[in-house]
Amino acid sequence: MSVFNLNEQNANLDKKIVAGLERISQVFKILLWEKSKLHQLSPIQIQLLIFIKYHTQNQSTVSYLAHEFNVSKPTISDTIKTLEQKKYIKKIIDKVDARSYTIELTELGKDIVLETENFADPLFDIISKSDADDKIILWRNISDMILQLNKMKIITIQRTCYNCKFFSKEENVPFCGLLNQELKSEDIRMDCGEFIQV
Ligand code: SF4
Repeated sequence: MSVFNLNEQNANLDKKIVAGLERISQVFKILLWEKSKLHQLSPIQIQLLIFIKYHTQNQSTVSYLAHEFNVSKPTISDTIKTLEQKKYIKKIIDKVDARSYTIELTELGKDIVLETENFADPLFDIISKSDADDKIILWRNISDMILQLNKMKIITIQRTCYNCKFFSKEENVPFCGLLNQELKSEDIRMDCGEFIQV
C-alpha cells in the first residue's frame, strides 16, 4: 500500500489528498530555495531569521530552535555561527550562565527578513481568493491534522490553543480564558504569543 502508487492513488481520494499535501510541501521548499539563491542564504538560515523576528527571546535559544525545527543542536549552532559571521544576528550572553545565550536580529538581519519573509505569498494569494466558508473548513481540517500529528509526536512544539492552559471546552464550545472569549474555528491559533503549555 502506497500513496505514491498511481493505480492506488487515482482510485482512492484519501491517497490523492495525502499525495496533494506532499506536492504542496514541495512548493514551500521551492519558494524558499528561490529566496536562498537570491540572498546566498540556506533555507534553514532564512527560516531561523524569520522565526527569531516573531518570537520571544526565550524562544531564540539553541535548544528551543533545535526542537522547533526538528534538527540537532550542532546544526542550529552552525547556522547561528554563519548568521553571526554575516552580521544578521547577535548573541546576547546570559548574565548568570556565560555559556548560555539568546539570539537577536541586527539591523541587517531585520532587513534580510523583510526581503525574504514574503516567500509564501504565492500560496497566500491563492488562499485569500477562496470562498470564506471553504477557508474555514480548510483551516478546521488543517488545525485538526496538526493536532493529531502533534499527538503522534511527529510535529514537536505546538503553541496552539488545543495545547494551551487557557483553553477549555465547556458544553463542547472552545473557549480562551485569557482573551475571555469563545473560540470559533477561525479563531483557533496555530502559534500564539500568549500560549502557555498545559
Ligand atoms: S492564549 Fe492563545 S493559544 Fe491559549 S487559548 Fe488563548 S488564543 Fe489560544
